[in-house]
Amino acid sequence: MPTWAKAPDFADQPRTLARVRAGTAADRDDYLRSGLCPIQCGRCATWVLAKKNSPQHTSIQWTAEGIRQCAELAARAPGEVVETCPALQASIDAAARDGRLAMPQINGDRRAG
Ligand SMILES: [Zn+2]
Repeated sequence: MPTWAKAPDFADQPRTLARVRAGTAADRDDYLRSGLCPIQCGRCATWVLAKKNSPQHTSIQWTAEGIRQCAELAARAPGEVVETCPALQASIDAAARDGRLAMPQINGDRRAG
């Protein structure tokens, strides 16, 4: 099981969350440029923004809605840190294999398609 660098850090990212939830085209472009890719959990259908920092390391940005929607996170006790939903992790791994989730590259992380 890979080591996740961070638990969901939505509490630290109110502005990012607000932008994600706003979901405008400009904001989408902003976070896509930063390497974040929308990924949907195959089990609970929660959407998150994921970014590959390295093959082993993925950053995940949760939205408040996603946190409520994900059964894994919803089941956590107040203050408990849940690393991530296992089904979501599998979806992210699949996206990385498919090339939907860009891997970091030396000359930036743009890729065709
Ligand atoms: Zn899930």
